Amino acid sequence: MTRAEIQRLIKVLRNAYVCCHQCGDKYGVYSVGCSSMWEGKCDVCGQTKIITETRDWAYFITGLRKLDLQLADIPKGKQKKTFSE
Ligand SMILES: [Zn+2]
Repeated sequence: MTRAEIQRLIKVLRNAYVCCHQCGDKYGVYSVGCSSMWEGKCDVCGQTKIITETRDWAYFITGLRKLDLQLADIPKGKQKKTFSE
């Protein structure tokens, strides 16, 4: 993944209120014994699935930490240059 992709994903995960099981499993850790689930649009992958609140996945804390580390591994300015002036 590029820096931009990782940064976009971090933003999506931070702003997500609900997510499906797959996304929760991928980026978070299931933190409650049981949670209410319903059918709706996943804030992460955008598909209509059985979803639950991201709170039940510890707000993707584990995934966000991994993404932060990945981001730190990629040197800045290696991709497309942006000129601020
Ligand atoms: Zn999803």
